[in-house]
Amino acid sequence: MAKPLSILFVSSEVVPFAKTGGLADVSAALPQVVREAGHDIRIMMPKFAAVSDRKFKIHDIKRLTDMPIQLGEKTMLGSVKSSFLTNIKTKVQVYFLSNDDLYCRPDLYVDPKTKESWPDNDDRFIFFCRGVLRTMLLLGWKPDIIHLNDWQTGLIAALLKTEYANEPLFKNTKVVFTVHNAAYQGIFPKSSFEKTGLPDKTFKEQGLEFHGKMNLLKAGLMYADHITTVSPTYAKEIRSSKEYGFGLEGVFKRKARKTSGILNGMDTAVWDPSSDKMIAKTYTKDSLEKKLENKKALCEQFKLPFDPEIPVIGIVSRLADQKGFDLIEEKLADIMKLDLQIVVLGSGEKKYEDLFKKGAKKYKKKMGAHIGFDEELAHLIEAGSDMFLMPSKYEPCGLNQMYSLRYGTLPIVRATGGLADSVDDLDEKPKSGTGFVFKDYKAKQMLDAIKRALKAFDDRKVWEAAMVRAMKKDNSWDVSAKKYIELYKKLLKKK
Ligand code: ADP
Repeated sequence: MAKPLSILFVSSEVVPFAKTGGLADVSAALPQVVREAGHDIRIMMPKFAAVSDRKFKIHDIKRLTDMPIQLGEKTMLGSVKSSFLTNIKTKVQVYFLSNDDLYCRPDLYVDPKTKESWPDNDDRFIFFCRGVLRTMLLLGWKPDIIHLNDWQTGLIAALLKTEYANEPLFKNTKVVFTVHNAAYQGIFPKSSFEKTGLPDKTFKEQGLEFHGKMNLLKAGLMYADHITTVSPTYAKEIRSSKEYGFGLEGVFKRKARKTSGILNGMDTAVWDPSSDKMIAKTYTKDSLEKKLENKKALCEQFKLPFDPEIPVIGIVSRLADQKGFDLIEEKLADIMKLDLQIVVLGSGEKKYEDLFKKGAKKYKKKMGAHIGFDEELAHLIEAGSDMFLMPSKYEPCGLNQMYSLRYGTLPIVRATGGLADSVDDLDEKPKSGTGFVFKDYKAKQMLDAIKRALKAFDDRKVWEAAMVRAMKKDNSWDVSAKKYIELYKKLLKKK
């Protein structure tokens, strides 16, 4: 093997330490596969309250205790602690930047009492970004690649290319910045910029400025050597309009040549119908009849009458506008006239929680809803449903459609982001289709896609062939991690 790479992977959340969304899954899975490929990859994140010393066997790094870190006029102290991400094959070192005042709180980004962002999120992530680079310097560890993720880490790119531009340790370091969701940008008042310690010109001329404010996602975009997003289609969408780029579409457009879309992988060990302990009966593409036992268990759980001939559509989701529930709201009465059943698991915005709660009451025999977060039930829904509905307005990558494919549960999706990149329409491609795809964000188009799915379901032979194709698809991290490693190598060849 050629010389292994050294990579620092920086993310504000990593499973199992702290998670609010898909970012945390990526931040654990990708480094593990890169490590398996023989590279020295290490992770760094803030030490939030959830990161328990005892549970995760975290130890101090003595020489990195009480490091002074500049935050505007103030100097604050940060200490670095360490633990490992372990699985059967690998061990990845994780560094945590600790400062109890900043990070030891009941939630990562939001005050649960007010439901608003913590008022000092600027301090928390400026401190984190400075702390990460300080840690590298004190360790004397020279990363070939610093891989940053989302706005919380964006300032690192700007610091590296300005204040640290002549620092020998980072002389050959390349910066990759991954955008997991362009809707979250880390926007702060101009006064926050003063605390970054960056030269004045970096605000206006070179780019942290966004309508008079400081935008930390933009910092990452402006200063990274390469930008990635989590699916090829999303990479195109975010430069196409305000709807997807949330005001940064112009920047995404300017950076198009430096941007690539790499589809996320999924955890194939956790989501595997042949060994899943959370479902009623395990099955494979060669024993599809056993999937029916899961459908039966699912109907029981939701108190719906079980009929193998009636298709069950599953939904597992954050109940947020992004996910397209207003389309369902618009056509619920029409959907309920069809010969199908729907089960929903989700929590989030009250209007959607109410929509599904009321729906389950009104359509007792056809609709079941469980409001909450329930890992085990999510698995049973994937295994027991015939179809899975994801009509998202936008979807940077999306995981549930990949789980669905693996469980032979054909997805009905809107052609956006990762959904467009992972599901092929069965009517358009009868020989290779794996689901049902509609183009425009219109309730009627979604309803038509559901109707097309019901029609296909009636032809058992066609349906089972599509199930088998879906189950054979390789959406593992192996495929995606290879692309990241190729990208790292390509960047290092550039002068
Ligand atoms: P996003 O990151 O936008 O929420 P993804 O599809 O990328 O969407 O990932 C969501 C993850 O969270 C999936 O693993 C999904 O199964 C899980 N999930 C979402 N809502 C729930 C819920 N109510 N109960 C259990 N799991 C959920």
